[in-house]
Amino acid sequence: MVGGGFGGIHAVSELRRSDCDVMVIDRKNHHVFQPLLYQVATAALAPSDIASPIRAVFSRQENVQTVLGEVTAANLEERTLTIGSDVVEYDLLVLAAGVTHTYFGNDAWAPRAPGLKTIDDALEIRRRVLLAFERAEFEPDAERRARLLTFVVVGGGPTGVEMAGALREIAARTIPQDFRRVDTTSSRIILVEGADRLLPGMSETASTAAKSALERMGIDVYLKTFVTRMDAHAVYAGDQRIPAENVIWAAGVRAVDLADSLGVEQDRQGRIVVGPDCAIPGYPDVFVVGDLAVQTSANDGTEVPGVAQGAIQMGAFVGEILARELRRDAPTSHERRPAFSYRDKGAMATIGRARAVADVAGASFAGFFAWLLWSFVHVAFLIGFRNKVLVMINWTWQWLIHARGSRLITGALGSHVGGVDARLDAHDSMHVHQFED
Ligand SMILES: Cc1cc2nc3c(=O)[nH]c(=O)nc-3n(C[C@H](O)[C@H](O)[C@H](O)COP(=O)(O)OP(=O)(O)OC[C@H]3O[C@@H](n4cnc5c(N)ncnc54)[C@H](O)[C@@H]3O)c2cc1C
Repeated sequence: MVGGGFGGIHAVSELRRSDCDVMVIDRKNHHVFQPLLYQVATAALAPSDIASPIRAVFSRQENVQTVLGEVTAANLEERTLTIGSDVVEYDLLVLAAGVTHTYFGNDAWAPRAPGLKTIDDALEIRRRVLLAFERAEFEPDAERRARLLTFVVVGGGPTGVEMAGALREIAARTIPQDFRRVDTTSSRIILVEGADRLLPGMSETASTAAKSALERMGIDVYLKTFVTRMDAHAVYAGDQRIPAENVIWAAGVRAVDLADSLGVEQDRQGRIVVGPDCAIPGYPDVFVVGDLAVQTSANDGTEVPGVAQGAIQMGAFVGEILARELRRDAPTSHERRPAFSYRDKGAMATIGRARAVADVAGASFAGFFAWLLWSFVHVAFLIGFRNKVLVMINWTWQWLIHARGSRLITGALGSHVGGVDARLDAHDSMHVHQFED
């Protein structure tokens, strides 16, 4: 099993009673609940609230061996995986390595506009957001201060919408009373989306509700607008130059590099095309599940979306096939297996505090009830009882007093603090503490 995300974990769980040895290989030692990454990036939750060590997830499943390592290549003819300088042989392979973000050929934008996929990404965004306010506090130049207080979020899918709403919450409600000089409520949040509506994967009703809710919060939403350029102090969106120090990338996905090593059919995003049984055509012993797979649902002929439910259902489906075939010791063939059907359980996105949009069972609704449902579903799918309890406590606390408990700036402060110190007048003093999270 390559990947301990949603797809990998659900496939492996199905093998708990099977007579086989399972090796779970992941380049991180933890499983991440990605739908809540934006809450780490915006200081609402701590990293450990939404992540669990993969070793701990499988501590009671004795046929699982967890390996921390990056698989750089898979040789389907020789049935081997390359992990660093090691080559490992397999009998059956499940690839659940997911996707990463892409800058559509503009990789030079990466350092300027971090994406959100891992805990490290979330901590980097949190660091930049919090530092921007710290720097703005002591910035005497009004133009530069405005740039520091401008946040451009690129991509109007769920991540972009949720990031934009959470940034507005921080600037307008969480921190204004903690700053003495700068008015953080004057921060500008701009959400840029290339399509003609937000949340393209959801209903028109949800898109419209999300846009008006964000605009009511004071967020500028630019639709049918593409980012064409970035420099150190501005983002160019359509024909506009937006002076902004902070850019967050929430647009576009591409398969992880490992997919290119297989030499099998891939789509434009590099994802691997699989058959109805989730195995690669011609390789019945090699399965691909989750975001990395291009799969057509047998029940309605539509493509399975790259969402958590898609990965969970494909993972469980493949796990069941493997468990059954291992039990019977039956020879594997594509034709003798069932075809995967995706059950759409709905889609949701939060918008700021205690508000969300939801498409569930053919109905579309927005507001507090949608947010309650969103909260319930997200807690239910979090891995680990401790995480479920901690997240519920944190959310209740935040809901009551607007607090965001994880506002820690970690890592080196670089030149920013020097700049601030130089601008302090004689009566001011400032102590900067660094914390480890
Ligand atoms: C910010 C964000 C917000 C999201 N919000 C939602 C949401 O609200 N609702 C929803 O349904 N979905 C959401 N998604 C999508 C959802 O998280 C994914 O569809 C789901 O995680 C896919 O699961 P997976 O198992 O295919 O891949 P992943 O969960 O991405 O897991 C892949 C695993 O493979 C490992 N890996 C990758 N390459 C290698 C390698 N070469 N060697 C070893 N290990 C490797 C990674 O470390 C990772 O642990 C969101 C995604 C993101 C990034």
